[in-house]
Amino acid sequence: MRALIAGNWKMNGLTEDARSLAGALKARAEGAQLACDLLVCPPFPYLALVAQALAGSRIAIGGQDCHSTGNGAHTGDTAAAMLRDVGCSYVILGHSERRSNHQETDAQVRAKAEAAMTAGLVPIVCVGETEKERNADQTLAVIARQVKGSIPVGMEAARLVVAYEPVWAIGTGRTATPADVVKVHAEIRRLLVGLVGEGAEKVRILYGGSVKPDNARELLSQANVDGALVGGASLDAEAFWAIAESA
Ligand code: PEP
Repeated sequence: MRALIAGNWKMNGLTEDARSLAGALKARAEGAQLACDLLVCPPFPYLALVAQALAGSRIAIGGQDCHSTGNGAHTGDTAAAMLRDVGCSYVILGHSERRSNHQETDAQVRAKAEAAMTAGLVPIVCVGETEKERNADQTLAVIARQVKGSIPVGMEAARLVVAYEPVWAIGTGRTATPADVVKVHAEIRRLLVGLVGEGAEKVRILYGGSVKPDNARELLSQANVDGALVGGASLDAEAFWAIAESA
């Protein structure tokens, strides 16, 4: 399956940073023959600007969250249809920073994934255990709860992405070992059979958590690793491109 390398810019940068990062990626993409699909998820205020800067390239754009309903009285929120309207084709949902900073529950993430699907966006549903849960040997139980609770039943496999992001590996410079990644991704694949049925092997399962140019190749070559969700390193065009070239 063609890998997806997704950059989560989080809440970083201003207009000029977004413009120059998008411009640098577009310049690298021109004429390049990558073996993966590329996606960037800028902060909301810069989505339209980045969409414009990347027009004509094959780099896709995504949001970092969306609301679970359409238009309405939801101050500060963004509807999935709005993301689609400004050029997004993906949306990250249930990132651990949303789960911890905004107390997002699995049920809320699932409702958002349904809204994303209805609006024509591909949801990237994030799951992952905390360090405490890992130390208590609860990783697979947490993953099972989050996958079953956050992913709507009956989604079209090719239009669903799941990201395994151990919380303790995000932004810390620590990564899960390849053996851990293989174990968790295999479990996610198994759980997906119950949710999307026959097509479960078509769902892209990304690894996220301190993916860098020097560890990307090893992580991306593991079984059931169909790409990466990249935070910090996606803010540097050269590093992000090097990760994409590792796929
Ligand atoms: C993320 O936040 O999705 C992430 C994986 O961050 P980092 O690559 O910085 O660990």
